Amino acid sequence: MAIRQPVVSVLGHVDHGKTKLLDRIRGTAVGDREAGAITQHIGATEVPIGRIYEMCGSIIGSKKFTVPGLLFIDTPGHQAFTSLRARGGSLADLAVLVIDIREGLMPQTIESIHILRQYKTPFVIALNKVDTIEGWNSTADRPFVLSEKDQQAHTKEVFEQHMYEIISQLSGNGVFADRYDRIDDFTKAVALIPISAKTGEGVPDLMLMLIGLAQRFLETRLTKEEGPGKGTVLEVKEVKGLGQTLDMILYSGTLKTGATVAIGTRGAPLVTRIKAILKPKPLDEIRDPRDRFDNVKELHAAAGVKIAVQDATGVIAGAPIRVVKNAKDPSIQEITEETSIKIETEEKGIT
Ligand code: GDP
Repeated sequence: MAIRQPVVSVLGHVDHGKTKLLDRIRGTAVGDREAGAITQHIGATEVPIGRIYEMCGSIIGSKKFTVPGLLFIDTPGHQAFTSLRARGGSLADLAVLVIDIREGLMPQTIESIHILRQYKTPFVIALNKVDTIEGWNSTADRPFVLSEKDQQAHTKEVFEQHMYEIISQLSGNGVFADRYDRIDDFTKAVALIPISAKTGEGVPDLMLMLIGLAQRFLETRLTKEEGPGKGTVLEVKEVKGLGQTLDMILYSGTLKTGATVAIGTRGAPLVTRIKAILKPKPLDEIRDPRDRFDNVKELHAAAGVKIAVQDATGVIAGAPIRVVKNAKDPSIQEITEETSIKIETEEKGIT
């Protein structure tokens, strides 16, 4: 059975390095074109499995995966994340909680832990900014487990002190975590991966960990559904020449031009039609900046895409979107329930 890429969200306290990590991942995703076809996305970055094999080099051993890659949502802490659904396919299949190794747990770190718990999203922790540890000897893009071997005894000691302080803070917040390479049972402990978003050290370990968890624990969830498309709206935008557009993540099923969709609003779901499905063109094929998209007839999960719709009145970021048969489709009721969960969460101040 074919499986799709897991959708991965990045969360954490302000300034702990979410944006920098996503920038590094975008750089990584481009990499060497030989490593696999690069699929362009809106609002998300895909790291194909071929690229992950290449990045990990020796640390991957003889492991083989059927997960085709990872799809990272580009906007950190995006409010759409809070619309994760309480049941069934939520927006993010996996999450990365970023913690600055010198700062430790801060209010938004704790809030992120609560959100992840509430939605039962499996996550790993990226202990970021290892390069700022006194005396740290950096080698760009190296797996952490190799990089660590090159450090002086004193530097290693300082690093371990910071790490254990964070492990103890996490345990105070009910999260049992350990260094990923010291965990025997991933159902019992949350993996900590030391990284530097600046130098790229540890990023291969992070990718490998996410792929490994997806393969081991999410296979059923990631099995490709050929049914009607289901997704989440990231942004609503009026675009010259295209009219109302929605940037969205399609996490399950298929989307077709001309299909009827139901979308969450603060009131009753909006039922409208997809006028066009727009995928960004590869950079080297853009000759005119006004001609940035390719029109596609059909799209399969998981993907980040822009769609032009007949109407987007009242649509909110984070709203669920689904392909439906018509305005009487019973699944529209589920949209109403999901949207009310989102609004309730927003009103509690969880964003
Ligand atoms: P965000 O608010 O979580 O998105 O944090 P940013 O990605 O904007 O990072 C905040 C600051 O920390 C910026 O000045 C980054 O350049 C810096 N930063 C992020 N990651 C690293 C890292 O791994 N090492 C170092 N030295 N600086 C980092």
